[in-house]
Amino acid sequence: MQSLSGRKKNVVNKKMTIGEKLYLPAIIGGMFVTLKHFFGKSKTVKYPEVKRNFSENYRGLHVLKKDDTGAERCTACGLCALSCPAEAITMTAAERTKEDKGLYREEKYAAVYEINMLRCIFCGLCEEACPKQAIFLTSEEIAPANYDRGDFIFGKDKLVEKQHHPVGKIRGGGPYSKEHYHQHGKNKSIF
Ligand code: SF4
Ligand code: SF4
Repeated sequence: MQSLSGRKKNVVNKKMTIGEKLYLPAIIGGMFVTLKHFFGKSKTVKYPEVKRNFSENYRGLHVLKKDDTGAERCTACGLCALSCPAEAITMTAAERTKEDKGLYREEKYAAVYEINMLRCIFCGLCEEACPKQAIFLTSEEIAPANYDRGDFIFGKDKLVEKQHHPVGKIRGGGPYSKEHYHQHGKNKSIF
């Protein structure tokens, strides 16, 4: 049959030489390759003790932002969920009461907001779609590994930022810069 790629190779059942029959040269060659890598410079890092520097444009873990007064920006409009190609976002909207005025910026807010990190492909479309600048993907945090599937559902307890940082400084050397990260401890969440 004609090869479509032009890379077809015909297999020939040729007889092995004495050297090939002994296997020793092949074993020594294999061990040499192993030793070369064993003493060579490692290409891996000992995560999580050692972390690689991410690109400033890296899209990592999501953060739900607050405004300058500390009120949550999200108004539960659902545009992020609609734009999500992985259907990873779900939310339940609620109406703000008089007592909650300082907690939420808009009259409608997300009482429940969840992202399924097993579905998320970190494309950033939710960030693009948000009209309130309420959701961003940070450049220095990744969704941590876990043994329980349920722990990959990130609710507001994990997503809403704990410390307020101005919008527009999430990526590109903003408050989540390397110095800031180390200042807050390598293994601690900074949100
Ligand atoms: S980053 Fe992409 S896949 Fe993940 S929640 Fe946002 S829109 Fe969905
Ligand atoms: S994060 Fe933004 S797009 Fe998503 S529901 Fe809240 S305000 Fe709407």
